[in-house]
Amino acid sequence: MSDVADRADWRIAHDIQVSRAHASRTLQLEADGHCHYCDEHVAHGVLFCNTDCRDDYEKEQAALRRAGR
Ligand SMILES: [Zn+2]
Repeated sequence: MSDVADRADWRIAHDIQVSRAHASRTLQLEADGHCHYCDEHVAHGVLFCNTDCRDDYEKEQAALRRAGR
């Protein structure tokens, strides 16, 4: 079977997903009153509602960066 082609398809789809996630998330890391991970209301000037969300967000971003390479 065409393993290489399958993998290429997966890569392309994955790359698109990664860039989209990047464009929609990373570029607008401004404190807008919402947690950047779960969208919960947070105090003004705060990016995340707690350290769990921050950690999860950073883990997610790290995974995306690793996958994007
Ligand atoms: Zn949160």
